[in-house]
Amino acid sequence: MLFHNRKITVIPGDGIGPEVISAALKVIEATGVGIEADVQQAGASSFAKGVVSGVPRETIESIENTKVVLKGPLETPIGHGNKSANVTLRTLFETFGNLRPVRELPGVTTPFTGRKLDIVIVRENVEDLYTGIEYMQTPGVAQALKIISRTGCEKIVELAFEFAVAAQRKRVHCATKANIMKLTEGMLQHTFEEIAPRYPQIEAKHILIDNCAHQLAMRPEQFDVIVTTNMNGDILSDLTSGLTGGLGFAPSANIGNDAAIFEAVHGSAPDIAGKNMANPTAIILSAAMMLRHVGEGAAAHNIEQAVLVTLESGIRSSDMPGNSPATGTKEFADAIIANLGRVSSTEGPKDFRAVKISPASREVQASKVGSRQVTGVDVFIESRLQPAELAEALNDVIAGTTVNLQMIGNRGNTVYPVESERHVTLVDQYRCRFMKKDRNDNLSNAEILSLLTRVGEEHTWMHVEKLQQFDDVDAFSRTQK
Ligand code: NAD
Repeated sequence: MLFHNRKITVIPGDGIGPEVISAALKVIEATGVGIEADVQQAGASSFAKGVVSGVPRETIESIENTKVVLKGPLETPIGHGNKSANVTLRTLFETFGNLRPVRELPGVTTPFTGRKLDIVIVRENVEDLYTGIEYMQTPGVAQALKIISRTGCEKIVELAFEFAVAAQRKRVHCATKANIMKLTEGMLQHTFEEIAPRYPQIEAKHILIDNCAHQLAMRPEQFDVIVTTNMNGDILSDLTSGLTGGLGFAPSANIGNDAAIFEAVHGSAPDIAGKNMANPTAIILSAAMMLRHVGEGAAAHNIEQAVLVTLESGIRSSDMPGNSPATGTKEFADAIIANLGRVSSTEGPKDFRAVKISPASREVQASKVGSRQVTGVDVFIESRLQPAELAEALNDVIAGTTVNLQMIGNRGNTVYPVESERHVTLVDQYRCRFMKKDRNDNLSNAEILSLLTRVGEEHTWMHVEKLQQFDDVDAFSRTQK
């Protein structure tokens, strides 16, 4: 579908943002596409005006209307609380997928030059440890929740495969830490393996994230598209930007069901702001991704080719190594504009269509199971007792109840019962696992509440987790022996 004369929301942002955004808008205009910019504010200037989220109401309304944003970097000013305008935008419009393409660029010399790197990281962008749900469980022990949903996995895996098809890519790797985090990271692996057969033309491979990092340093040319969880993707995508020339060349797209935000990977670079020194390539390539997203594939392709031709001509931005005088932001954009319509000698025509994104569902997403049972409960207790002493005290507490104390863990290590002494550092946070004596019977809420009341009379508990079985399969991690 073509969107001639369509409006987009433009957020110039902070630091070098206005300079690089102005360069990108000039390039878009020069392609002749009918794009109208609705310029809105967010970031430092909005915080300074007392907008707590960093994103004013008018900006949100503009995005609700246009559904497409070209955004400069936003600072998170110190002293205005800990809100980030970037996170506000990401969560308000649930941009669940972060696409970060990197490729070898002519004239941008790196240790990997000549290997023709062309890699896209597809990072899950809203779940995982980035939900920011954290607690101090004791004065010395912190806990963060890693939330991974089946729906979130389906959305990111489908995005990765749909992108691979649209961009005529050959291979999708799914990078996880499923060997350790079997339920969270494992959910992405299982979802990937279930969905992959729907795309027989694409080679699908699972890889452990640590091996993926190793392989990216040793033989990065083997990778095409990599789909991964939020935290892994954050780290891997910075790594891949480094492989191909750095932040000044790394574009990105934040894709949601209702809106998409296109931005450079770099920040506001306060050290070079206002000096006409910033490399505008990353935001110009992000603008090309945006044009493709709104159905202006020809203009997107035209810009990408002009960027390559410009780099082939030996132009050097301030962040590229070399002795020739660096080209300023404005002049760099002018050179790209002068090269619109020309074809790169390093990479010929390679056009591809926009990725199809389905509209968001407003239904609460839930996976169905045939049977479910609560078989026990983990109670997290703050205590300075040794494990055996704590076990003795807890066994006294639960005498005559319907539960047994099955084990006590400390930072993932089983410390009770143990066959021989454990050489572990103990902290004052214990995970105490109580199981229903009759394994065929459900542990009721009343039994759990009664247990907590008894435990709470003598110990400090701060966190409780039900141990469930779905379809007769344990829905919790096994204890480390
Ligand atoms: P940064 O990316 O702004 O700068 C890191 C280094 O790279 C600096 O030396 C800078 O001069 C250089 N650099 C970055 N972009 C460049 C370009 N286009 N051309 C030439 N050189 C470039 O990272 P930082 O210093 O860690 O962050 C500065 C601010 O930006 C912080 O407030 C941070 O929160 C914010 N930030 C925002 C985003 C975003 O909006 N998506 C992303 C990252 C950082």
